[in-house]
Amino acid sequence: MKIRFCEAERRVFARREKLTVSQWASKYLIVQDGIYRGSPLRLDVSPFLRGPMDAYSRPGVREVVVCGSLQVGKTLLLYACLGWSMDYRPGIKMLAMPTRESRDRVVEKKLRPMLQGSPVLRRMVAKYRRENILLKDGTSIELATAESPSQRASITVQDLFVDEEDLYSRSGDSSPLEDFKGRTRSYGDFAKIIRACQPKGDESSSIWTGITRQVDQLMCYEVVCPACRHQHLMDVDRIVVPDGETDPRLIRSRKLARYRCPHCQYLWSDHARDLAVASGRWRPYVWTGAAFEPGPDISDARSIGFHLPAVLSRFVSLSDL
Ligand SMILES: [Zn+2]
Repeated sequence: MKIRFCEAERRVFARREKLTVSQWASKYLIVQDGIYRGSPLRLDVSPFLRGPMDAYSRPGVREVVVCGSLQVGKTLLLYACLGWSMDYRPGIKMLAMPTRESRDRVVEKKLRPMLQGSPVLRRMVAKYRRENILLKDGTSIELATAESPSQRASITVQDLFVDEEDLYSRSGDSSPLEDFKGRTRSYGDFAKIIRACQPKGDESSSIWTGITRQVDQLMCYEVVCPACRHQHLMDVDRIVVPDGETDPRLIRSRKLARYRCPHCQYLWSDHARDLAVASGRWRPYVWTGAAFEPGPDISDARSIGFHLPAVLSRFVSLSDL
């Protein structure tokens, strides 16, 4: 007897290649704003995003924590992981944001265009609502805010995406972040969590505490000097203005600042910095309480933190810093 499958059945039964988040995003995500708008995501623009993206798709990893400045691509990172999760991990997801106002703005301006711009993801969405996005497989992406404790308490979540947790306001003893994480408990080791946030800059920053004290493994991004190939962690204290100009407006408008290589003393322009970042890689580090120092490589880490300072971003000039 011969069995014939229709086109839709063949698609369902086809063995799909399993891509990492960075491979998936480069293939299926379309950039929605900025100078690369309309083109597929190019990770050569932000090569450091591959590390946290691919840590998220690694099977043993349960939690990825990214402490990053503005302009390093944190939102893109969160949405790439969300899209990958929609494609490969059916189940209820939650995107947690600080306030209703920030949620409504982000969903309208960023999330919805991202979902509609990607043919793979667009096909999966059944309905957009204010508090969730219903998917055709019967699950949903819950759009939660730290302002609505009742919503947090009532839903069990497989994959949690935590945006800008340092802006979550606490009421009494309850921590919105811990409440959100508690929603994933019934999924045990199968749950995945990713947190991305700009640190508030003092000891109370939960994202800073997250990467420096709570994760199994901390990763920092080393760059490679285009002149001498020396590999090191960038330090903003090495930014200099060679001809002694002190007027911040002139420094910015004429892009006078340079970065001094600690090994060969070559002065990097913004372009040289971008080359140094393009050749860079993530390395295991520890936070000593005063500085980042090289640390052991923990191959079976279940939670991984990533530190992403603004100095790595090609959208931030050395002269702005
Ligand atoms: Zn050098």
